[in-house]
Order: sequence, then structure tokens, then C-alpha cells
Amino acid sequence: MMSRPRLRKRLLALLLGLGIAHFVSGGNGPAFSSSPVRLQASGRVWESLLSQADALNLPTRFLRRLPPDFVRFEFEDLRSFAAEYHPGEHRMVLNRTLSFNAAGGALKPLSRMTHRELQTLYHELFHAYMDYWGVNEVKDRGGTGEAAPTPVLDFAREQQQCRYLEVLITPVVQRKTATETRFLTERESWEALNETWAVFVGWAIWTHLEVQKKARRNRNVDVTNEWAQRLKKADRDGDLRGYYEPEDPGERAVTHKRFLAPQFRISPDEVAFLMDEILGQQREMIQKLVAVMEDNRRTQPLGGKCGSQKPK
Ligand SMILES: [Zn+2]
Repeated sequence: MMSRPRLRKRLLALLLGLGIAHFVSGGNGPAFSSSPVRLQASGRVWESLLSQADALNLPTRFLRRLPPDFVRFEFEDLRSFAAEYHPGEHRMVLNRTLSFNAAGGALKPLSRMTHRELQTLYHELFHAYMDYWGVNEVKDRGGTGEAAPTPVLDFAREQQQCRYLEVLITPVVQRKTATETRFLTERESWEALNETWAVFVGWAIWTHLEVQKKARRNRNVDVTNEWAQRLKKADRDGDLRGYYEPEDPGERAVTHKRFLAPQFRISPDEVAFLMDEILGQQREMIQKLVAVMEDNRRTQPLGGKCGSQKPK
């Protein structure tokens, strides 16, 4: 998840102003009772993380494009989420359970993380990746007056325009068929896109690990087919959906997190892009995955106005 410290601080100030003595994070942020522990030498943490990820056959190509000291790692006792990423500060706050011996001093070895923990870690690493390109885009425009080529941002901005400005949400998370329309602000729609993509990247890492494990046990497992079946189900069940924190005070009084409706689940175009850019998958595999998603779309159409995604 992406965090918005500014808003939380405002909420905190409001609560303090009301004379409420204990800290409340709206159920959506870290427990304030513990002070964060910042890891020393982020560069070394990064190098170690990448070599461990390589050893586990996890994707690192996209991460190697970031300078080793870009992300600052911290541990906290997070109440509601396993991790947070603060884009402005390039700060990744991980739950203490993801630290070595839960001591909050160093990252737990990746080989000792569960598949769910690695899913969480990669979800946040993806936020860092998008954050990095966002910073680069600003820098280059400031320095030379010309925009540097940033394929991931170009595609993201295009998708933001055609899929994430006018969306359907599910006011009651469990009731996927009861939807309402929302016109998102620039920030809300960017967050909704980032979370949708991070949810997918996390899911893909988890799937990769699960399929690897299964294939180790049984040599007859067809990896591509296994992926396709799992994606078909996750897509059909509406699992691959993003969310955002609403800006409107009235909405925020109701909830801190709005989930996009199944019609605004990740699209085949987005999956194809991320499978290539982030996960470095082969073209044949990507084509197969796109095909199963397209198949689902015949009975479960997608919303949005993106070229090939117009409802047929
Ligand atoms: Zn996220």
C-alpha cells in the first residue's frame, strides 16, 4: 500500500485538537506507540536483497535500474498492514515480522520469508520502482527541458487517462456486484493505478513461488498452463483490483480505502505490460495469459475507455 503521511498527520492534529489523548491511526496506518527503526546503509541492504532474490529465482532486472541507496528501509509495528511505501521520502516501512528475528534491525533472509511475505515485499518494491521513475521524470524535465523516455510512466499515464479517472467502486467490499461511479482526482486515480499494478505484481510473485514449488514436487507440471489457470481464476474472481484513499472528507468519514469494482480489475494490456517489464516473462507465456483473460472478458466485460478495452 502507498501511504499518505500528510493526511495522517492532519488527522492526528485533529484528534489532538479534540483532546483525544491516545493516538488513533484510523485503522489504516502504523501504530504510533513504537518509534521506527531505520536500517543503516540502505545500499548494502539493497545489494543483499537483490542477490538473495536472484538466488530464489525472483525477478530483479527492474530493481537493478534503481540506485542502491534509493529506498530507505525501516521497520515498525504496523497494525493494519504488513508494509507501507512513502513515495515522497522513498521510504519503505516493513512490519517488524519481516525483520531478522523480528528484532527490527535487518531484513529477514528472503529464503526464510513465506510466499505471502515475499508477495508483500514485491508489492512495495513495485511502488519504489514507480516512485523512482516519477522522480526521474521530474528531474529530467527540470534539467534539460526535455522529458526522458520513461516507457513505464508513458504507459501508466495513458492507462490512467482511459481507465482510472472515471471508475466503479464497491462501497461494500464483500458485495462485488453493488457498484457506484466515482470521478477520481489526479492523485486518487494515480494511486488506484499504482495499487492495481502493485497488487498484480505481488500476486504474480506469489504465483511464481507457488508454481515453482509445485513443479519441484511434480515434474509433469506444465508451468505455463498452471499460470494460465491461476490467472483465469484470479481474474474471474475479481482478485486483481486496486484501491485508493478517497480525498473527499465525506467519503473518508465512511472509509479510508475504496476498492475498485471487478469491472476495473487489471486489464489484459496491463498484465502483458507488467509481465514483460517487471517479471521479464517470455512472449509465449504472456500471449497465453492474455488469451485466458480475454476469454473471461466475454462474460465479464471491463470498464474504461482504453482503445482495445472498449466493451464489445
Ligand atoms: Zn500498495
